[in-house]
Amino acid sequence: MKKILILHTGGTIAMHEDKATGAIRPDNKNPLLHFDLPIDTDIEFITEEILNLPSPHITPAEMLLLKKRIVKAHNTGIAGVVITHGTDTLEETAYFLDVTVKEKIAIVLTGAMRSSNEVGSDGLYNFYSALRVAACQEASGMGALVVMNDEIHSARYVTKTHTTNVATFRSPTFGPIGLLSKHQIHFFQQPIQNNHLDITQVVGKIPIVKAYAGMDETLLNLLVEAKIDGLIIEALGAGNLPPASLPAIQNLLKTQIPLVLVSRCFNGIAEGVYDYEGGGKRLQELGILFCPGLNSQKARIRLLSALNSNLNKEQLAHFMTHPVQLA
Ligand code: ASP
Repeated sequence: MKKILILHTGGTIAMHEDKATGAIRPDNKNPLLHFDLPIDTDIEFITEEILNLPSPHITPAEMLLLKKRIVKAHNTGIAGVVITHGTDTLEETAYFLDVTVKEKIAIVLTGAMRSSNEVGSDGLYNFYSALRVAACQEASGMGALVVMNDEIHSARYVTKTHTTNVATFRSPTFGPIGLLSKHQIHFFQQPIQNNHLDITQVVGKIPIVKAYAGMDETLLNLLVEAKIDGLIIEALGAGNLPPASLPAIQNLLKTQIPLVLVSRCFNGIAEGVYDYEGGGKRLQELGILFCPGLNSQKARIRLLSALNSNLNKEQLAHFMTHPVQLA
């Protein structure tokens, strides 16, 4: 009999609305613990409330806990894992698992935009959809997946795009890799297989800084003092920075930490194109690593994973500049 492990971690999907105030609050008991859904009776579901946290409380330590539980599940014959999670940081946990779990096991994350007792609550439906995807043969070998609102997204590109809309999860540039219809699950694309990093710890300070018109050195110089282990810069356009920020960039480079650049644009990739002061070509020549295709929060998870593995400087640079590898 096929076994699916359900790991509840909290989030809106596990919360309820206080009808007197309209405030959304965590529940002591997950409303999805006992479900009666039209799912294949040949599947055994094993449910664990591994965490009960709003997702802004999730840190890489909890992501590592999930990774370890998934590896153990795989080693005991479990075919797929469904993780319910708050939507705010769901994409980061999903990407962490995409990078660190090499085992062939379906990993499907889902959540809800409306809590369990609100009108139009999407939690049970998304949970049901995630169970359907985790149970289907094609789901393993796709990397970590995010299933919400009838769509299947790769953890690599999906991002939360709307504060409240149930269609919040989108994959800019790339689109969903599949969808669910009433009777079927359709995969249209298969993500390219990636190298994985089998990490056992997640230590290190890696802030994210967003560039803006008129940015100067203030914030970046504070980071020189703060003794960080790496930095993600959300740069302008194709990968450029305001000239007034450059002296601090030089100071940070002198500390030998990896500086990783992504674009603040919603679509497209960062690339060293422009040859002017602060232009991407020159930033690349200075030694800044351009990470194509990932948003800043995912580049941060990737760098955190790289810093906690035993990659040397060149391997780390390659890992960060090639987030997708052809075998
Ligand atoms: N703030 C909530 C959380 O991430 C939002 C959600 O779950 O949709 O836990």
